Amino acid sequence: MQQFVELGLNSEILKAIEEMGFEKPTLIQEKTIPFLLESSDDIIALAQTGTGKTAAFGLPIIQQIDVTRCDAQALILCPTRELCLQITRDFTNFSKFLKKINVVALYGGADITKQMDALKRCPHIIIATPGRALDLIERGRLKIENIGWLVLDEADEMLSMGFKDDLDAILRNTPKEKQTLLFSATMPKEIVSIAERYMHNPFEISAGKKNIGAENIAHHFYLINPKDRYLVIKRIADLHPDIYGIVFCRTRNETKEVADKLMADGYNADALHGDLSQGQRDVVMNRFRSKHLQMLVATDVAARGLDVNDLSHVINYNLPEDPEIYIHRSGRTGRAGKSGTSITIITPREKNRLGDIEKKIGKKFEQKKVPTGKDICEKQFFNFIDKVMTVNVDESQIEQYLPEIYEKLKDFDREELIKHFVSVEFNHFLSYYKDAEELNVRFDKPDRKSKRDRHLSYSRFFLNLGKKENISKRDVIFLINDSMPDKSIDIGDIEILNNFSFFEIDSNYEKDILKAFKNLKYQGKKVNIELAKLKK
Ligand code: ADP
Ligand code: MG
Repeated sequence: MQQFVELGLNSEILKAIEEMGFEKPTLIQEKTIPFLLESSDDIIALAQTGTGKTAAFGLPIIQQIDVTRCDAQALILCPTRELCLQITRDFTNFSKFLKKINVVALYGGADITKQMDALKRCPHIIIATPGRALDLIERGRLKIENIGWLVLDEADEMLSMGFKDDLDAILRNTPKEKQTLLFSATMPKEIVSIAERYMHNPFEISAGKKNIGAENIAHHFYLINPKDRYLVIKRIADLHPDIYGIVFCRTRNETKEVADKLMADGYNADALHGDLSQGQRDVVMNRFRSKHLQMLVATDVAARGLDVNDLSHVINYNLPEDPEIYIHRSGRTGRAGKSGTSITIITPREKNRLGDIEKKIGKKFEQKKVPTGKDICEKQFFNFIDKVMTVNVDESQIEQYLPEIYEKLKDFDREELIKHFVSVEFNHFLSYYKDAEELNVRFDKPDRKSKRDRHLSYSRFFLNLGKKENISKRDVIFLINDSMPDKSIDIGDIEILNNFSFFEIDSNYEKDILKAFKNLKYQGKKVNIELAKLKK
């Protein structure tokens, strides 16, 4: 692995990125920076979110800007206002020790006259969303006929947001002699056609799978019934009191619903979706960035452009339809050398779709058991005890109150005192989780009584395996679930006897299970099941 010094960057830039905490270049930086400093050929780079693209194109461009000229030398197009602002912030930091480089950000939803004024003041670098850029070009305010660099950042996102025509129009306004850099996480046909039309012999770089953090992401899933999705989110939040993550939902409504419930249940959460005004979005995003919010519930589109580096968790409320979306989402955690967890909540029906994603990410999902009430209470206790042990005690301040407190508590012994303090903190948890349901569909037997209350009708089966074969109730549940992997079937009573057993399942699946158990073997022995009479 090379060092930044070896890439040909000047000392002012090296100093700036050192201050930003960059120690080593990412793969895409290592490949792009020297190339851009030496060659004027075009580049197509296939790179995921979080691979350090901004510095990859930003540093070499900044180094080559001629500040004595008074015209736009680089145009960077990106899909959203947030990305625009973020790239602008990064560029300002990169050029902190250089002579004043003028960077102008142009995006919709903001006062255009101010942006027009800014364009009068010799901008060297323009960072813009396609719609606003085109608007200003058509008004004759943005002049791009002298640019030496054109960057299309997150090109696939720009297309999927409907900027194709705008991009075409902008590209037609650029000079022939320029270096075009196209960055994209995926390569749909439209991108290939843009590349063919507007780029010349592009040099191709792929840093796609080598996300800076990809190796640091653990991919977990919970297998549950669809109706329990929200309860699982609650448990995840309770098991991780310091969680800092995004919960991805499919629709605005789902986003609102989940966020509203979380807030009503006292969690530090909020929603980010398309129905919010730009002002409201900014407020939510800023609260999240500054960690005043722990959980952001968002749609994919709304979360675009929100760059936060140290998420502990990405939670998929549902399994996304498209594996690429999964990759994008999960790539938001485990960044910049930190580790992260991507959790997906799925139903048995969705399970066979995990394989596609596994192929793409080159990693296996790990099934996790939804934490039980006991797991959570334990975790909360320890977290609390840790806090108690490490809290900063300000003697000088509390001294004055202590005598009275001691006096009041004098009849409690140590054990009693601990019990009382802990109860103050935990009674709500303990009572919430006292009779907490088991939420996993594949780990334990469903509660028979409550199922009965829901008027489910069961069929009873005889099974030719018993204690002699060392079979347990869990084994029977496993056999049932494993023989019908796409269905979540309600399982009733299981009775293990010496030479055989009985089990009950939802009557709707009578025929399916008889079929599924044909030709089934258990430890070499042929399994035989028969319909039996229901126990009275
Ligand atoms: P992308 O555009 O590929 O999604 P960014 O350029 O926004 O990624 O970078 C993601 C984060 O990683 C940013 O916070 C950036 O400051 C940080 N970063 C980029 N390059 C490095 C590096 N070489 N070392 C440490 N952090 C880096
Ligand atoms: Mg970027």
